[in-house]
Amino acid sequence: MRAGQPWPVLVVDDDPGIHAMTRLLLNDFSYQERRFEMISAATAAEAREILAARPDIPVTLLDVVMESHNSGLELARWVRETLHNARLRIILRTGQPGEAPEDEVMARYDINDYRAKTDLTAQTLFTALVGALRAWTDIDAAEGQAAILERRVEERTRELDTQRRFAETLVEMLPNPVWYKDGAGAYRLYNRAFRDLFGVGAACWSGAMAPDDGSTDSALLSGTTDRLTFEAQIAGHDGAARTVVVSKARLGAPAAPDSGVIGVITDITDRKLLEGELRRLATTDPLTGAANRRQFMAIAEQEAERSARYRRPLAVLMLDIDHFKVVNDTHGHAVGDEVLKAVADACRAGLRDVDLLGRLGGEEFAVLLPETPLPGAIDVAERLCQAVARRAVPLPGGAQIRVTASLGVATYRGDAAQVDQLLARADAALYRAKAEGRDRVIVDSFD
Ligand code: GH3
Ligand code: MG
Ligand code: MG
Repeated sequence: MRAGQPWPVLVVDDDPGIHAMTRLLLNDFSYQERRFEMISAATAAEAREILAARPDIPVTLLDVVMESHNSGLELARWVRETLHNARLRIILRTGQPGEAPEDEVMARYDINDYRAKTDLTAQTLFTALVGALRAWTDIDAAEGQAAILERRVEERTRELDTQRRFAETLVEMLPNPVWYKDGAGAYRLYNRAFRDLFGVGAACWSGAMAPDDGSTDSALLSGTTDRLTFEAQIAGHDGAARTVVVSKARLGAPAAPDSGVIGVITDITDRKLLEGELRRLATTDPLTGAANRRQFMAIAEQEAERSARYRRPLAVLMLDIDHFKVVNDTHGHAVGDEVLKAVADACRAGLRDVDLLGRLGGEEFAVLLPETPLPGAIDVAERLCQAVARRAVPLPGGAQIRVTASLGVATYRGDAAQVDQLLARADAALYRAKAEGRDRVIVDSFD
């Protein structure tokens, strides 16, 4: 209600005299520098229409007996229960002392004051109205505050809602599988990438995911750690094995009942395959598939160390194809390559898994034989020598060629000797095999 405007006062009474007298009295009053404006209703029905149209009326002076003996009380009930107007201050006025409503009715309909019509002096009317208007302005202010608060809550709720939708959409769109599990181990949220990986529907899923066995969750929930990352092998719903990095963090305080665990999976299968392929390329001779010189030497060093520490036998063979230059010169480089491959295959076929075949360069191979004493090493060397000689390599025209190889054997006896010295001794033996006519095995003279 704007300042300066008069206070509307609704007088409901079937006695025109009461209206005239009240108007007279109200003429002289003002409250908070505002005068009073009287609105008249002769019946409760008329009063309803006015009240329904004027929610700004702060106070009514209400007769009890009008159309019926309790029209006034009925109107009061209608105001509170049907119109839902809790602000209107109701001052009952009655001509008969016996018409006073029960205390219970006064309380139920929030009737704020009760006056006998005989008690309507200027003073009593004014104090009754001022009391009512004070209460009304207080309620008005409180309701105004409540409305402001309500608007703020609504705005804040809208903001939070926008933020929540943003976060949910973001999580849903992420290419990494993401999930949230509550403290009881139930999956509460998981995104599209998660559903695609495990082939689960959008409805809450209670299945177990292989790397998510729960043991890591309990460490997080109890507060032993706040976040952790580990590598795991999993099978997606398509059955394909995948290597993944699982990162988890606790959401909430340690050991709090409403804490949960948030998890993210990064699929590193392709990276692992690539790493493996790079490692293979870096350690393998591409023509024959044998270990390259660097890899052979690295493993030979490790084996020599192991053999020295545990005093275990270790042998090496050096193998060189006989008259290989002639093969190249006669049949061409491509056939030479095929012969190199065939020799490597023949050797591998005669070796154990723990043995290592290396191509040290050109047509020269070496074989590392862990846990092999001299007699065993000689056996292997003889076997490889025969296997190479037996191996026929088809020529493009349909014919075949065979080659032979010479081998030198040396064994390591757990002394302090270096790997290159062991290889040099095997090489010296190989040189003698060449000198003594090729296609044979010669053992190092120190053995
Ligand atoms: P010996 O019996 O004394 O060992 O005689 P050899 O002819 O086998 O030995 P030499 O060292 O004279 O010749 C080796 C030849 O191997 C020379 C080289 O062109 C050839 N060679 C080296 N690497 C490759 C390769 O990767 N492919 C082919 N086709 N030939 C190769
Ligand atoms: Mg040769
Ligand atoms: Mg050679």
